[in-house]
Amino acid sequence: MSKRASSSRWYKTQSSDPYVKQRAHAGYRSRAAFKLQELIARDRLCRAGQVVLDLGAAPGGWSQVVRAIVGAAGKVVAVDMLPMEPLAGVEFILGDATTPEITEAMRASLGGRPVDLVLSDMAPNLSGIKFSDEARALALAEQALIVAQNFLRPQGTMLVKLFQHADTEHFVREMKTHFAAIARRKPGASRATSREFYLVASGFQL
Ligand code: SAM
Repeated sequence: MSKRASSSRWYKTQSSDPYVKQRAHAGYRSRAAFKLQELIARDRLCRAGQVVLDLGAAPGGWSQVVRAIVGAAGKVVAVDMLPMEPLAGVEFILGDATTPEITEAMRASLGGRPVDLVLSDMAPNLSGIKFSDEARALALAEQALIVAQNFLRPQGTMLVKLFQHADTEHFVREMKTHFAAIARRKPGASRATSREFYLVASGFQL
């Protein structure tokens, strides 16, 4: 497809997308905020006073959603390798969530508070090379599980973005060994054409 045809298709999709219009109206920084809202409503992922770690947080839509729920008694620590405009009540760490330095920065920011909910909406920059993109996306989910193992409290919850392909099932099996219950979710705001889905994992066991 030519560049012009693909960009005209993009505009068409955007302008007819109800979530794009709603996003501007609700003041969310991302369309992804609606995915999280739907998952929270369905699976009761989060409540007032809780501590949330948001991996791959920029531009900040998910952080906005959880911040509003956890309130002043709660805490939101957001991490991204891209800069993010400051959000009131959200502690932002700039860096690669898969590195020991940023793990230490998360530890310092959490100040010893155990985490109730780990979110990972991390996604790689797509190269267009299918196998490599899939492998990199899965590696990020695996790293998110390592972060959860470092900081999630027993019985805590994790929400992680995945892309449907053969190797994903190994990861789902791995998740089953660490959590009491696993559910697959495809929120309405997740484009039907995308292979993306989310795993809601609850009842973390050390
Ligand atoms: N949930 C976000 C929101 O609602 O605004 C959108 C997240 S966006 C789909 C994915 C993000 O993952 C990107 O901002 C990207 O920079 C980030 N990311 C990818 N790899 C990462 C890594 N290793 N460490 C930290 N962030 C990463």
